[in-house]
Amino acid sequence: MSRILVAGGGGFIGGWLVKELLSQGNQVFAVDVKPMSDWSQVFSEATNSVRDLSNLENCFKSTTGIEEVYNLAADMGGMGFIENNKAACMLSVLINTHLLMASKENGVSKYFFASSACVYNASKQNQTNIDPLREEDAYPAMPEDGYGWEKLFSERMCRHFYEDYGLETRVARYHNVYGPNGTWDGGREKAPAALCRKVANAKASTDKSIEIWGDGEQTRSFTYIEDCIEGSIMLMNSDIREPLNIGSSEMVSINSMVEIIESIAGVKITRNYNLEAPKGVRGRNSDNTRIQNLLNWQPSISLSTGLSATYKWIEEQVNSNNGN
Ligand code: NAD
Repeated sequence: MSRILVAGGGGFIGGWLVKELLSQGNQVFAVDVKPMSDWSQVFSEATNSVRDLSNLENCFKSTTGIEEVYNLAADMGGMGFIENNKAACMLSVLINTHLLMASKENGVSKYFFASSACVYNASKQNQTNIDPLREEDAYPAMPEDGYGWEKLFSERMCRHFYEDYGLETRVARYHNVYGPNGTWDGGREKAPAALCRKVANAKASTDKSIEIWGDGEQTRSFTYIEDCIEGSIMLMNSDIREPLNIGSSEMVSINSMVEIIESIAGVKITRNYNLEAPKGVRGRNSDNTRIQNLLNWQPSISLSTGLSATYKWIEEQVNSNNGN
């Protein structure tokens, strides 16, 4: 049993991580900047606090007596958010900087940083049928503007906190994590949740059309939340100090994902393509050779299985919002 801080514990991944760490018998401290009524999940067995972790003093308070830190706190969202809020995304550097400083001073034994596939060099992602991204493809650096630069810089800071101060750091590069309890409306939602919501709305309405950002041929892989949590805890408990992909290698186009959601929802949809909308890179997939070799593990939950659970949860939210 360890005393574990989950920074960003009120968020999507943070909420599921708190749940799993509690179920493993740990003493968990969840901290998030947003009001607790907006947390995606709240567990009474955890110690829950509302604090702004971009503030150094709050980071000192939050890491006192803590053995392990999972830093999942960031000002982020899907493409629509990160393309239009680059400065806000980069300011998350304050959270990681101050949490690392406080963790070092307070003698934290292990520190986990949630990085992203957005660190990868954009020139390796300019076709739909790209080679899956290997960890070394982050350099030479040409990450996603704003959000990706912050992640790449913070990854390096983790590395140097180990080299210079001996703080054990672990870095996961998440690839599009989705699942129930994720953000599904309001502008920060990502493609799987946005498409589930649009299909659920169309199903409930006489207008059976939805808008798709781009031409729908852009490709991605999507990681179900259970795989993300399992991989993150395995990485934290390992001795792997270099960044590691935590991402599904099941690559699909956005159009294929819409087809899967249509069949789960039992509805046929007309697609309207908005070519002016934010679309991100043309193609992206995770190369899992390294994680397979080092941890003998990689994400295994299929997109159709993960989307079934996610669609069901989002349809319930849509229907209850519509008063059904
Ligand atoms: P999320 O937005 O649901 O969770 C992030 C949480 O951090 C939010 O609850 C937010 O309120 C909190 N936060 C923001 N600023 C804070 C501050 N100053 N102090 C304290 N808390 C603060 O996002 P998520 O999907 O759960 O992502 C968790 C982490 O994983 C983030 O670092 C994100 O960049 C990374 N990541 C996520 C994905 C994905 O697909 N979900 C992909 C790559 C990387």
